Order: sequence, then C-alpha cells, then structure tokens
Amino acid sequence: MPVSELRTPSDGPHVVVVGAGFAGLAAVRRLAYAAERIPLRVTLVDRHNHHTFQPLIYQAATASLEPHSIGQNLRSELRGLPVELLYATVEDVDVEARRVHLVDDDPIAYDVLVLAAGAETASFGVEGVEEHAFPLKWLSQATRLREHLLATFERLDAAWLRSQAPGSDRTVPNADSTFVIAGAGPTGVELAGALAELIHRVIGRDHPGVRPEGTRVVLVEMGDDVLAPFQAESRRYVRDALEARGVEVRTGTAVEEVGVDFARLDDGEVIPTRTVVWTAGVQANPLASALGAEQTGGGRLVVDDDLRLAGRDDVFVVGDLAGATDGHGELLPQVAPVAIQQGRHAALQAVRHLRGRPTEPFHYHDKGQMVTIGRHAAVAELAGDRTLFGTPGWLAWLGLHLLTIAGFRNRMSTLLNWSYNYAAVDRAARLILPPADHER
Ligand SMILES: Cc1cc2nc3c(=O)[nH]c(=O)nc-3n(C[C@H](O)[C@H](O)[C@H](O)COP(=O)(O)OP(=O)(O)OC[C@H]3O[C@@H](n4cnc5c(N)ncnc54)[C@H](O)[C@@H]3O)c2cc1C
Repeated sequence: MPVSELRTPSDGPHVVVVGAGFAGLAAVRRLAYAAERIPLRVTLVDRHNHHTFQPLIYQAATASLEPHSIGQNLRSELRGLPVELLYATVEDVDVEARRVHLVDDDPIAYDVLVLAAGAETASFGVEGVEEHAFPLKWLSQATRLREHLLATFERLDAAWLRSQAPGSDRTVPNADSTFVIAGAGPTGVELAGALAELIHRVIGRDHPGVRPEGTRVVLVEMGDDVLAPFQAESRRYVRDALEARGVEVRTGTAVEEVGVDFARLDDGEVIPTRTVVWTAGVQANPLASALGAEQTGGGRLVVDDDLRLAGRDDVFVVGDLAGATDGHGELLPQVAPVAIQQGRHAALQAVRHLRGRPTEPFHYHDKGQMVTIGRHAAVAELAGDRTLFGTPGWLAWLGLHLLTIAGFRNRMSTLLNWSYNYAAVDRAARLILPPADHER
C-alpha cells in the first residue's frame, strides 16, 4: 500500500502506531505535534481507511445516523500533519527485530512502536454466535444489521398484506418480529432502547404489518443487573426506562445457543428469533497473542505503569489492548476516555524515551460515564458524585457525543440527523442498499 506521496519521509527515529481508533489517533496527533519540532518520523497503520466512532455505532444500526456520519477518513483527518499513513493489516510484530509484519506487504522497521489495535467482539465459545448472531463493532457490521432490520420490517409487512388470513395475526410475536440483544452493558442497553423506539414510534406508524404489541425486544444479561459499572440508582432508572419502552429485561440469564431462528437461554427457554445482536463482550485483538507476551483476562497485554509492554522499553500498548490497572490493581475499563488519555500519554513517553529521558507513570482521570435509552431518557454520572437523570442527562449525553465525533462535517451531519429524527419522529437512514439480507 502506498505511503502518502505528499510528504517525503522525515529523518529521525521512526515511531510506528498500529490502529487509528481513539488511542492511536490521540497518540498520532501528539506525535505529529512533536515531529513539527524535533526530527521524528511518524507512521500510522490501519486496516480501515477511516476512524470509527464506536459509541454511536448502534445509531447507525438502528437507522438514526448514516454510517458515514460516524466514520472519519484518515487522510482528511490528518491532512497537513507530518504523519505517513499506511492502509494495511498488521499480522505480527517481531519485537526483537523491531519490525511490524503486514499482510501482503513488506515489513516496516520501527524505533518505537505504539500498539493500539483495540479489541474484537468475543463469542465466548457460545454455540452459533459466530454463524448466526450480529456483532456490532465496525461500520460494515452496523450497516449489515440495519439492512437486516429494515428488510425484516418489510417482510413482516408483506406477509401481513399478502395473507390477512387466520394465523397471520400481526399482534402475536414470531421469529421475525422478535429481537434479542445479548449483553446489557452500555451498548446493549442503548441498542435495546433505540430499537424499541424505532419500532414503536417510526416503524409501527409506517408499516401496517408491524404492530408494537406483536413485536418483542428482549435484553438478556448474564449478570444480576443491567449496566454493571453504574450506581444502583442509575441501574434502576435505566431498567424502568427500558421496561416503560416495552423492552423485556432478563437479568441473571445467559444465552446458551443461537440458531438461524432461535436463541436458547440457560433456563431452558427457547425464544423464536431471527435477530440476535451480540453485545456481550470483547476480547483483545488477536495481535496480543501473536506477541507471545504476558496477557490479562480478556487477552489484554500486561503493561508497566508507564504503558510500556512489560519487559520492553520500545513498545507501548494503549487503549482496549492494554491491560493497565488503576491504583487498586483493577483493570481500567475498555472505554474511549481511557484510550484517548493513554494514547496521549504513550506519545509523550515515546518522545521522552527517544530523547533519553525517564518515562512517567500513567494516571487515568475519570470524568464519569453516561448512557441513553432514548428521547429525554439518559443517565449521566459525572465526576464529583453528581448524577443527571432524564432530560438533563440526555442533553449532557447529546452534547458530549456531538463534541467528540471526529470531523466537522460529521458533527454537522449528526446534528442535522438528530434534529430531523426528533422533530419529524422519523429515522434519517432507512434505505436498504441491495442486496438486502445478503449474508443470510
Ligand atoms: C458498540 C460499542 C459501543 C461503545 N460505546 C462506548 C461509549 O459509549 N463510551 C465509551 O467511552 N466507550 C464505548 N465503547 C468502547 C470504546 O469504543 C473503546 O474503548 C475504544 O474504541 C478503544 O479504543 P482503541 O483505540 O483501543 O481501539 P479501537 O477504537 O477499536 O481502534 C482499533 C483500531 O485498530 C485497527 N486495527 C485492528 N487490528 C488491526 C490490524 N491487525 N492491522 C491494522 N489495523 C488494525 C482497527 O481498524 C481500529 O481502527 C464502545 C465500544 C463498542 C464496540
């Protein structure tokens, strides 16, 4: 793949960053700032040509946002910065030889490596998940789920219009009109709320064959409650808000098997469904195992307090891939603020290391957490033990997400789509781009 032809490679030690997610982009921006001032060559490698704003990916899957609003082309994002971009897939890293091996391309040598390759959806070995469930991590997966959902609503409509006979009762849920979401972390909760709103407020209005009472949205969680990292009051609020929107919340229950048209739970119940969305967890990118270094639970790489790979002074690991801990030895959460702060920190430490200075430990500044269930319904737990519920929480959620999406055009497009969705009670991105349902 071509390195940017607009700039000739700079002199100076070579820092290679793998991954243009939250952590990698934060690192690259800081490294570019340094490269304007000292001799430094910076290369960013990613297998996508865009950055994905994962916190809003469920909105692309439920037709609220066009996928392009939450993906930012890397060349335009980094235009004018002294960074070489390489659109390629890393298959291995030889830490002894200091080389990054690429699929179908020559290896690249580095002086310092920043590994920010993130995590992947984990099926935890549950039967049928890989084959039949919908993962939700990348834009292509969001688009695939959206088209499946829209095609399903069309199919329900067509079936009802065709028959209108006994047995085609649109008020009785069937496998097409039942949607199961496995995992009630922030993504599962937000998706369940968005899907319930989509069906009740928009689809139910436009599709005579889809009646809200004839559909089910079932949120299944293995743990005792939804949203494990949130406070009890917030969890109660979220559960009530979901149930008020018609979501069936099943906690203390695991999905044991997924088939083409069913989900089997560990209490023996079999739910007829053709849609199981798997938001039950992630595991570290397989690159972590390829390194042969020490790993934590979930496959994250063990790092020192300055974010260097344990035992190496020229490899930093950041974001979802890093097994960094807080002051109590607990693994830091795999969330965007941790990734951004770590990316910045690793870039600064890489420069210190190259200049022969001692590195400094990383400290995470936790500014809170938030989740939305839909219109005027959200919880924002802020630093200083303040929690906003309902409309204030929702406005805080909207504002923060709008400000943090990469790219001015994307922020404008998101604002426009949200305003339209709110005012028209519609969804902006309801096109099925053929072939619909192609992977089934
Ligand atoms: C659906 C979903 C919703 C989320 N919602 C929230 C939220 O509301 N708030 C929040 O704080 N966090 C949220 N998160 C978590 C947050 O998105 C992650 O913690 C964050 O993206 C981690 O950043 P990262 O840079 O480590 O990895 P990522 O952002 O995942 O980036 C990894 C990058 O590495 C690239 N890459 C991977 N493997 C290779 C390879 N072999 N070769 C080349 N490139 C490679 C990928 O293409 C990608 O660009 C959510 C995550 C998901 C999946």
